[in-house]
Amino acid sequence: MTRVIFLGPPGAGKGTQAKIIADDWSIPHISTGDILRQALKDQTPLGIKAQGYMDKGELVPDQLVQEMVEERLSQPDTKLGWILDGFPRTVNQAVFLAELLHKLNHQGEKVVNLEVPDEIVIGRLLERGRKDDTEEVIRRRLQVYRSETAPLIDFYRDRHQLLTVNGNQSQEEVFGELKKVISS
Ligand code: AMP
Repeated sequence: MTRVIFLGPPGAGKGTQAKIIADDWSIPHISTGDILRQALKDQTPLGIKAQGYMDKGELVPDQLVQEMVEERLSQPDTKLGWILDGFPRTVNQAVFLAELLHKLNHQGEKVVNLEVPDEIVIGRLLERGRKDDTEEVIRRRLQVYRSETAPLIDFYRDRHQLLTVNGNQSQEEVFGELKKVISS
């Protein structure tokens, strides 16, 4: 059973690694960013509500994202494991998630923080060229990361759940370390 909560700044390479892990372990890759981008594309009520926040690099309100994650984790394909990428993003969301996992009987999750220095992250985000990757939006997303999301590192460290992997290596090296940490 593999359940992974994947932490790290935007541009750390979480999405890429999460996809590889999901394929390798045959578990769903649950990316709240991907779900929100799809909702936006389909112009669902969720997508319409989320758009303004996403365009500015702000977080979508906790409640919207939490409902989305509860619905996704309640689907049958999550029974054998999952990798969560981009959630939780706030301490509130982390508290919600701990309760949700308890309720769904999905315990034993591993929390992995992918560490990458700031200057590397900015370079990678500028190269990526996604619609919400303009310099101004990137700067805002990093600010939001520092103030809202980075406190999760201490949150999980205090709960003795935090595992750390150096994300500033080749894709293969990062994957190798992740594999070790997740299987241990
Ligand atoms: P990502 O693909 O993870 O970088 O997410 C893209 C955008 O979706 C973020 O900048 C936020 O606006 C929104 N988003 C994704 N996940 C969350 C979350 N857990 N809480 C709030 N907003 C989120």
